[in-house]
Amino acid sequence: MEKRDYYEVLGISRDASIDEIKSAYRKLAMKYHPDRNPGNPDAEEKFKEAAEAYDVLSDPDKRQRYDTYGHRGLSNSGTGFSGYTDINDIFSRFSDIFGGSIFDDFFGTSSRRRSHKRDMGERGSDLRVRLSLTLEEIANGVEKTLKVKKMGRCETCQGSGAKSNSGYATCPTCGGSGEIRQVSRSVFGQFVNISTCPNCGGYGQVIKEKCEICNGDGRVTVEETIQVSIPAGVEEGNYIPLRGKGNAGRRNGPSGDLIVVIEEKPHDIFTRQGDNILYPLTLSFPEAALGAEIEIPTIDGKEKIKINPGTQPGATLILRGKGIKRLNYDSRGDMIVLINVYIPTKLNAKEKELLKELSKSENITVKGKNKKNKDFFEKVKDTFFS
Ligand SMILES: [Zn+2]
Ligand SMILES: [Zn+2]
Repeated sequence: MEKRDYYEVLGISRDASIDEIKSAYRKLAMKYHPDRNPGNPDAEEKFKEAAEAYDVLSDPDKRQRYDTYGHRGLSNSGTGFSGYTDINDIFSRFSDIFGGSIFDDFFGTSSRRRSHKRDMGERGSDLRVRLSLTLEEIANGVEKTLKVKKMGRCETCQGSGAKSNSGYATCPTCGGSGEIRQVSRSVFGQFVNISTCPNCGGYGQVIKEKCEICNGDGRVTVEETIQVSIPAGVEEGNYIPLRGKGNAGRRNGPSGDLIVVIEEKPHDIFTRQGDNILYPLTLSFPEAALGAEIEIPTIDGKEKIKINPGTQPGATLILRGKGIKRLNYDSRGDMIVLINVYIPTKLNAKEKELLKELSKSENITVKGKNKKNKDFFEKVKDTFFS
């Protein structure tokens, strides 16, 4: 199915403020909430669609990627953001964003989130890992293998937390409600204080006998090897979300996400400027004056370039398509060679003699329009500060 534009989904303009986004999402979430539309798959789809649009547009980073690259900018890893499949994911995710109260505010006591009782399987937390990439890897995209230490499912109890299927029993302290009510009286009247049951932690059920390996958590520390496909053209601070690859949830709850944050290693000789690569090339005075054929490194290997006679310091040579592949496009940026000319600092007697001789020659002296350095200055300025 073709994905709809997120702004269209929320019915807002592209420059909508965060408050407008929030308010548009609240309205839709209320309209299509499953509690109000029981057994209506169309409403459920709309509910998920709105949550996904909100998830992206409320996050400045994701919104920027979406504005620039569209849906592809968010799902380029193949396993990236692919929407919500489980509606409980939405509750667990957005209850945080709205300070735990969005659905409570809307639906009052009828809300399934109103109760103090927790689901047995809590969603696992998200994990962030940093991935440092060389410019070469970024230029062409790369497959990486990550070793991630995280909470994984305990295989001994298969995530249940209970020893050899001894199972669960209703919590004797709270009688299964997951909460403790304490009534206190004062001159002002009667107060009911509700708190989470300390015995079952709000689950309403207790494990009869805990699994000895995970001590009832249903999870253990594991090291997982994860393949991640990095698209060409990513930059520092970009991230790739791998859904369900984060920490496992307690007692078979859904797993969190693994967020791969891209770092860019500085390169020895190249400087990145967007999709372009800058390379400073220093020529000798005779090379610049006479012209030359010079071998230079590029991101794809060595290449010969032609230097025209009379090449000036500050001149730039552009190697089209030798830059970095653009994120989610088939085109590439350019390589920009910045020319510098080397003036020797040490000369022997013979060299001095030759240069003195040469300096008297007609075309060597600086005169006329060459005395104005404006062209040179403009070139350098354009290259470095544009
Ligand atoms: Zn276990
Ligand atoms: Zn309890």
